[in-house]
Amino acid sequence: MIQNRLEKIKNTLNEDIILVAVSKTKPIEQIKSLYDIGHVDFGENKVQELVNKHGVLPKEINWHMIGHLQRNKVKQIIPFIHLIHSVDSLRLLNKINYEAKKINRKVNILIQIKISNDNSKYGFSFDEIEHLIKNRILDEYEFTEVKGLMGMATFTNDENVIDDEFKKLKKFYLKYRQQTNFSILSMGMSGDYMIALKNKSNMLRLGSVIFGKRN
Ligand SMILES: *Cc1c(COP(=O)(O)O)cnc(C)c1O
Repeated sequence: MIQNRLEKIKNTLNEDIILVAVSKTKPIEQIKSLYDIGHVDFGENKVQELVNKHGVLPKEINWHMIGHLQRNKVKQIIPFIHLIHSVDSLRLLNKINYEAKKINRKVNILIQIKISNDNSKYGFSFDEIEHLIKNRILDEYEFTEVKGLMGMATFTNDENVIDDEFKKLKKFYLKYRQQTNFSILSMGMSGDYMIALKNKSNMLRLGSVIFGKRN
């Protein structure tokens, strides 16, 4: 039962930790069944699926975009998105700010940092973000609010590797938290969220531990 699984995990978490239920590929009815027990944060990684689900589900849901976002699709989610976790380039940030300005809506985003050695993972380097922070470049985007950082660890069974990667992101987050006003550190998926919690994550993105395996 997905409701029980969600409740069980939530009961182990501190109140200040937000659990984003990653509902990609999962049907409307399952999302609705979690919404019905009071859960409002859901994550998707494809724009079309996100737009479709947003269209038919209650407007109170907080939709999180967690997957790589193409610039030509930004416009579709700007009117309603709660938080974009996956801002992985300045070109994408420019586009988000541009589309947000057009409808006069301030959009919340996270900067995705590449913390893994995995070649397929998107994101900024620590050096790039440090440059943006020190030169106050993120402040120039009037229609985006950078709420914090997101990272994905290497897909491995080696917990030390994962721990090292999360630890680096935690250190960076804590170092710049005050001068940036960052308040969100999005780390941790089904296989590694315990390690993420140890490293001060306050936003988990959990799919399969709640919904079961995806096909
Ligand atoms: C799919 C996905 C998740 C959730 O993955 P699980 O292993 O099923 O918990 C989390 N974050 C991102 C960016 C994803 O694409």
